[in-house]
Amino acid sequence: MSGRVEPSGGNPYPLGLRLRGRRVVVVGGGTVATRRVPALLDADADVLLVAPELTPALRAHVDAGRLRWEARRFVPSDLDGAWLVQVAVDDRRAAAAVSAAADERRVFCVRADDRDAATAWTPAVTRHGPVTVAVLGGGDPRRAMSVRDAVRALLEARPGPLSTDPAEEAGPVHAPGGRVALVGAGPGDPELITVKGLRMLTEADVVVADRLVPGLLLDELRADVELVDASKIPYGPARTQEEINRIIVDRARAGRFVVRLKGGDPYVFGRGGEELLACAEAGVPVTVVPGVTSAVAVPAVAGIPVTHRAVAHEFTVVSGHVAPDSPASLVRWDALAALRGTLVILMGLKNLAAITATLVAHGRPEGTPAAVVQEGTTGGQRVLRSTLGRVAADVAAAHLRPPAIVVVGEVVTTLPPG
Ligand code: SAH
Repeated sequence: MSGRVEPSGGNPYPLGLRLRGRRVVVVGGGTVATRRVPALLDADADVLLVAPELTPALRAHVDAGRLRWEARRFVPSDLDGAWLVQVAVDDRRAAAAVSAAADERRVFCVRADDRDAATAWTPAVTRHGPVTVAVLGGGDPRRAMSVRDAVRALLEARPGPLSTDPAEEAGPVHAPGGRVALVGAGPGDPELITVKGLRMLTEADVVVADRLVPGLLLDELRADVELVDASKIPYGPARTQEEINRIIVDRARAGRFVVRLKGGDPYVFGRGGEELLACAEAGVPVTVVPGVTSAVAVPAVAGIPVTHRAVAHEFTVVSGHVAPDSPASLVRWDALAALRGTLVILMGLKNLAAITATLVAHGRPEGTPAAVVQEGTTGGQRVLRSTLGRVAADVAAAHLRPPAIVVVGEVVTTLPPG
């Protein structure tokens, strides 16, 4: 390999490559390539994959038109016009041939098989919104990863340095007066918030929290964060929502980053849409961070899959807040009674006797398995298993209380309890 520059001397020179639209060649179609390609696609690189065969994950990228695939072995001219090449093959001779072609063309070459032969190293990376931290371990990837993990833990615990320009996250709208994020906190277990939701929480200046939000999440807020407990706002339900909207908008206009933290997912019976509209009307930039909804997660943690092959091919999530015979009801309970799949009822305890009677009256069999889960995914979780005909009486006898979810359908008895 004539003319090859020996790369092992000297310190590596770190760069952030801006690869949008620039050709990057990946040689190899196995697990290494599978792991490397997503970050290249995330950088909007123009990826050319050269490999006789692909893993299913790489094939999916090809099928979706995210990259171009040459189904053959590497030839040096593959690097014509390339800015970077990633070698992801085991065969050292094939890899060396790529290195030689890359040197000839002055293209940096990352070698998964031989860090000493590489002219560029890929760092271990942790990303926090717009911030990327990249760690090189002096040629030792495991050292790089352990340093990266330590940095990540530090940043997750102390978000200060990440909060320099919160408006950047909100997209093209740059209001001088702060912004709002509607964040789903998950169903109750504080670990079931999303990574993005948790990051938002650690960046917040103001947190407006619901009654159903896991207390432990609030426990971890910085001391200087203003916490508004929305469940303690002293008006009726209608006024309270107005008041919440006002608090959110006012704080954001004062230049603060407001996280509106809501149980489960913000848009599942959470009035998140109204809050988004209030922000939009006030010209305040607002983003939504979806959450793990209790409608799916609470049954799951109680051992009930909302769908199961050959058992239920649908699940319907419905609010039981309004009684079935009320003129205000928007739910066609007669139609729901005709369904065979899983019915997940939120806010259904108060009206449970009327709801189950209506379902039975319209044809859902009384013997259909039913379960009620109180305070699911938390230390206080209680699970009651019954049938559609008996569940209302059983709930009363067991003194179950809200928040609780009612599940009706064969999935209730599909998995062994416990
Ligand atoms: N946005 C929330 C739902 C809000 S409506 C979500 O996506 O999960 C509130 C209802 O959700 C409660 O009355 C109850 O029916 C249900 N719920 C929420 N958390 C629950 C939990 N941990 N256990 C049982 N039910 C829960």
